[in-house]
Amino acid sequence: MDLQSRVQPVLKVAREHAHAVDADGRFPQEAVSALRASGLLGLTLPTDVGGLGGGPSELVEVVSLLAGACGSTSMIYLMHVSASMPVAAAPPAGMPRLLEDLASGRSLASLAFSEAGSRSHFWAPLSRATTTRDGIHINAKKSWVTSAGHADVYIISTGTADAETVDLFAIPAKMSGLSVDRPWSGMGLRGNSSSPMTINVDTSEEFRLGAAGGGFDLMMGSVLPWFNLGNSAVSIGLSRAAVDAAVSHTVGTRLEHLDQSLSALPTIRAQLAKMSIDLANASAYLDQAAARVADPQDDTPLFVLGSKASSNDAALRITDAAMRVCGGAAFSEHLQIDRYFRDARAGHVMAPTSDVLYEFYGRAITGRPLFDAPEAAVETRETASTGAAA
Ligand SMILES: Cc1cc2nc3c(=O)[nH]c(=O)nc-3n(C[C@H](O)[C@H](O)[C@H](O)COP(=O)(O)OP(=O)(O)OC[C@H]3O[C@@H](n4cnc5c(N)ncnc54)[C@H](O)[C@@H]3O)c2cc1C
Repeated sequence: MDLQSRVQPVLKVAREHAHAVDADGRFPQEAVSALRASGLLGLTLPTDVGGLGGGPSELVEVVSLLAGACGSTSMIYLMHVSASMPVAAAPPAGMPRLLEDLASGRSLASLAFSEAGSRSHFWAPLSRATTTRDGIHINAKKSWVTSAGHADVYIISTGTADAETVDLFAIPAKMSGLSVDRPWSGMGLRGNSSSPMTINVDTSEEFRLGAAGGGFDLMMGSVLPWFNLGNSAVSIGLSRAAVDAAVSHTVGTRLEHLDQSLSALPTIRAQLAKMSIDLANASAYLDQAAARVADPQDDTPLFVLGSKASSNDAALRITDAAMRVCGGAAFSEHLQIDRYFRDARAGHVMAPTSDVLYEFYGRAITGRPLFDAPEAAVETRETASTGAAA
């Protein structure tokens, strides 16, 4: 079955419920059920575990289409894919059927990385996994977990006992010691259920992904590329929906006393043109980034960093302009442009945030390490090129 035949029925359901999901701030159960049935939860997983074997370009295509229909559904989907990829890279021995369940739609997954203490710096969890007589105990305050209370399994990060590095664990939702701290109420992505969670569980190394201390590499190698491309695609899908709605409204709405449409105003047309070009640029950059992840080159890490920041910020500009050209009509909810505007605010604060990505990108092109290490922080391209000691 081709991708479109899988995705179109999901889009129909997601579109039908998107307004109510946003207005009521409720989890998009109907669209998530359609996703489970579509096979798309296994889009990027290998065919030998029942996945579709899709790559970065397929992910970008599906996520951007979903975002145009329902932003909340697209982010829930993206968190599932982002949680599935480290499982595929390092399946936990204690859950031998997990990959098949993630691929078939039996299990919806999410990522619980961000913590109350280290905030958007997900690579530095303050929680600790401590060794007990019976196994491993994890105590963590997670600040935002998409699909909280709805996912079947959470991939959680925690610091190792010596605080040197990070571990990832697969924690089934039914395990005792997981609690959702309060209901989600966001300005956008209101159906996400991105609530804080407290994790106070006894587990064992069988539920860890990979070797002890391997979590940081999994975050960077198996989560970040997929999350950044998909998050970028959410921004592109929301932007495209905003451009389409703005063009359609300004072409179809008349200033009757002048006998002309709103789009007859040159200022409106110029704004529409800028939005459309902004979208085309960000979208082309994302397509290049997806191609670079599928076929890695030396500059692939730059594309992974840059495409999320570029699309997130383009979405802020584009949805803001859509609000402006559609006037008071956009301020009311019947055009749904207000929803795209509110949903688009999430991308740039989702970690790695756009500001952090600019910082990382800037470090990379000026020859600095992404993360400060005491002995490496002073290394610069200038000192390297003059041969001076760092
Ligand atoms: C809708 C939604 C869903 C989410 N879902 C999940 C999820 O499923 N799982 C999960 O783990 N997390 C999730 N998050 C959390 C997200 O990934 C971020 O951790 C969170 O949004 C950061 O918010 P904060 O207030 O802690 O930001 P802060 O860390 O307090 O940042 C505040 C500001 O400082 C800037 N800043 C911080 N550090 C730097 C730096 N080094 N350089 C430059 N600027 C910097 C940031 O860019 C930001 O503008 C979600 C967030 C949202 C909004």
